Amino acid sequence: MNTPASPETTPIGTVLIDRTEISSRIAELAGEIDAAYASLESPLILLSVLKGSILFLADLARSLTVPVELEFIAVRSYEGTQSTGSVELVKDVSMPLRDRDVLMIEDIVDTGTTIAFLHEHIRRHAPRSVRLASLLNKESRREKSVTVDYVGFDIPDRFVIGYGLDYDGIYRNLPDIRVLDTDGD
Ligand code: 5GP
Repeated sequence: MNTPASPETTPIGTVLIDRTEISSRIAELAGEIDAAYASLESPLILLSVLKGSILFLADLARSLTVPVELEFIAVRSYEGTQSTGSVELVKDVSMPLRDRDVLMIEDIVDTGTTIAFLHEHIRRHAPRSVRLASLLNKESRREKSVTVDYVGFDIPDRFVIGYGLDYDGIYRNLPDIRVLDTDGD
């Protein structure tokens, strides 16, 4: 019988950002976002990009005091540790975004390809405003010019897992963000 990997018995990679740092940074970001959206006309739509952003979404949403609605969108853009460079819409939004304030919630902005695609796509829904909050940012890998309005952490060009981020579908449940060394170093 296969035993699922446990963070306690099978630590993988090395911790880059631990759960305490994540939690205090999210509290800071929530303060900035609350202040920026203090005079909303209708609840802020937190648009989570599935699946990687759901843990960030859950913690950020609970730290915010402004009224929010939760919405989800799904794209496919990455295989293994290599970007495919192309983005496919897997699940569109299921609520009208016209004249609404939308805050896209991402796990990580790497080349910027995914978020450039999503920004363009969401704009076609004619929202009142669109901004982006990303837990992680790999600025050195950028290929597309994108604005990340709220950044949790700038990180180096390493493949990370945990706190929502996967490697081939697993490790999303690890509570810390870890560097996965795929080259065995
Ligand atoms: P981009 O389109 O900006 O190149 O990549 C965005 C997507 O690639 C992210 O939403 C994430 O799914 C994936 N990605 C980029 N870097 C990493 C990483 O270091 N770890 C993991 N698990 N996924 C990553």
